[in-house]
Amino acid sequence: MSDAVVVGAGIIGLSCAVRLQQRGLRVTVVTAHPVEQTVSAVAAAVWYPTRTDGTSRVLDWARRTFDELADQARQPVPGVVMRPTRMLLRAPVDDPPWWAAAVPDLRYCPVTPVVPATGAAPAGGVVAEWRCTVPTVEMRPYLDWLTRRFVSAGGVLRQRDLSDLAEAGQLAPVVVNATGLAAGRLAADPAVHPIRGQVVLVANPGIATSVRDEHHPDGSTYVHPRRRDVVLGGTFEPGVDGELPDPATSRAIRARCAALVPELAGAAVLAQRVGLRPGRHGGARVEADPAPPAGVTRLIHCYGHGGAGVTLSWGCADEVASLVSEAA
Ligand SMILES: Cc1cc2nc3c(=O)[nH]c(=O)nc-3n(C[C@H](O)[C@H](O)[C@H](O)COP(=O)(O)OP(=O)(O)OC[C@H]3O[C@@H](n4cnc5c(N)ncnc54)[C@H](O)[C@@H]3O)c2cc1C
Repeated sequence: MSDAVVVGAGIIGLSCAVRLQQRGLRVTVVTAHPVEQTVSAVAAAVWYPTRTDGTSRVLDWARRTFDELADQARQPVPGVVMRPTRMLLRAPVDDPPWWAAAVPDLRYCPVTPVVPATGAAPAGGVVAEWRCTVPTVEMRPYLDWLTRRFVSAGGVLRQRDLSDLAEAGQLAPVVVNATGLAAGRLAADPAVHPIRGQVVLVANPGIATSVRDEHHPDGSTYVHPRRRDVVLGGTFEPGVDGELPDPATSRAIRARCAALVPELAGAAVLAQRVGLRPGRHGGARVEADPAPPAGVTRLIHCYGHGGAGVTLSWGCADEVASLVSEAA
């Protein structure tokens, strides 16, 4: 018998499972999909709190995760690298972004002067950049490492598609619901919705810096290099749930990315990937359920991280571990 069962083996479930083990609990993880087929395996996955609310709670999750991943990069943990990053701005800004407190070396770099009379952006539209160094994660090797770490510390990993969360209560009295998009059904939460994301993987022509153009007029655009390939992105489509890549979208992504980073022109396409981010109106739900199902002593929800599950993972796992400990 385990002390706790975590339902879900994406980035959220596995980081929660590891944190619970570190607090001395015997933990089982149940997953409907093999780890490499989760949405988490598709993530780009760069530290950046994409389209999250800048509350102090989210900042705390993001900061804790930044620090944990930075520490893992130093060890080094497979797939985790601190990478120079340029975040392009299409309008001048007066203040640092709300997440600046998490990023030690963030600096504002004007690119070209704004036309003084009108305040209009110059040709190309980019007037400045935030430059910084942030953790980036290559998800396949990282999820493998997390799984090995969990199992080698005595954790049990089971593949099983649970019909409801009460079923998890047969494995342990404490249940953590880290089921991502499926939480909409399992927790009867109408705020949960898919946010489709399509990316293209190309051979890395020697790029080492991430570039992000969130406000590109033709759609959010990013270039995230990894060891051998580069993730070119990407769409962010709330309410859309098709999982087949659209070739025209991939062509448009490649064209936007090559315009940002000319070395990418002609880079060999290795794959197109689609993932359905677990969006949630109101942000991620991390809390104890006031009315757990019969047979479950304590039910902690941790889902709905949208486009920032990697960025918030360790901070949320810390909070889940505290919520579980409170009950002990
Ligand atoms: C294209 C793309 C790019 C992204 N880039 C970034 C990025 O740069 N930075 C970032 O921070 N985030 C990024 N994300 C977002 C990130 O991938 C998600 O926020 C994160 O993966 C969510 O993790 P999760 O563990 O909640 O969900 P998932 O990875 O979907 O895992 C859910 C788990 O629950 C299990 N499950 C579901 N139902 C059941 C059931 N009935 N019984 C048992 N198990 C069940 C599944 O099998 C799975 O193991 C990106 C996402 C996409 C699609």
